[in-house]
Amino acid sequence: MIEIKDLHKSYKMGSNSLHVLKGINFSVAEGELVSIMGSSGSGKSTLLNILGMLDEADEGSYTLDGVPIKNLNEKIAARYRNKFLGFIFQSFNLISYKTALDNVALPLYYQGVKRKERIEKAMAYLEKVGLANWAGHLPNELSGGQKQRVAIARALASDPKVLLADEPTGALDTKTSYEVMDLIQGINDEGRTILVVTHEHDIAQMTKRIVNLKDGLIIDDSRVNQVRALENV
Ligand code: ADP
Ligand code: MG
Repeated sequence: MIEIKDLHKSYKMGSNSLHVLKGINFSVAEGELVSIMGSSGSGKSTLLNILGMLDEADEGSYTLDGVPIKNLNEKIAARYRNKFLGFIFQSFNLISYKTALDNVALPLYYQGVKRKERIEKAMAYLEKVGLANWAGHLPNELSGGQKQRVAIARALASDPKVLLADEPTGALDTKTSYEVMDLIQGINDEGRTILVVTHEHDIAQMTKRIVNLKDGLIIDDSRVNQVRALENV
């Protein structure tokens, strides 16, 4: 599903340059649940943003579901992004003046889905994350865990091949974190490919494979015995 080879990325600031990714190689097969771990500043978000086509590498290759991702114009990049990828962020990134239902329906709007079908599909995804009764509420009327569930429903709405989650539990308490990871595990059990960036070892243990980043390189990449999130609660 994902194949990257010798990926490099630097940030230029004036005459200085910070070399963040120094030759990353890895592949993710369809249906994997992988965590990318590393301390703060190790380049996890930089890597995820490149995988999410929100940023481009300076060197190296990236193939997503057989499609080489390089030098695409913004229109084609946006089309691939909508078709292939769903995003989940630490800060939820919901639209504050839209209801939970309308937040989930928004990606479908951009895909040109008609209103009636948008609402039906969005409602089904809200049900899937256990929030059918909260459809008409605004984000600020929801708890952190509920907001993240809405964000997960929104990410699923466009039926992406890959879900990319950057510190999805970073703003949540421990119990809520495990509940969100349980939801993510369930979505992976259905076969969806998911990458989770986290700096928390406990969270990484709930995936099936841990990729460790340090100083711009992968220093470890191992399969783990997945811990079921709700066994922790
Ligand atoms: P992580 O997500 O692992 O905490 P990041 O990928 O966000 O790490 O950042 C890696 C390094 O790159 C950090 O030193 C950070 O300050 C720097 N960095 C991240 N984004 C930018 C940017 N847009 N411009 C300049 N430096 C950046
Ligand atoms: Mg980060």
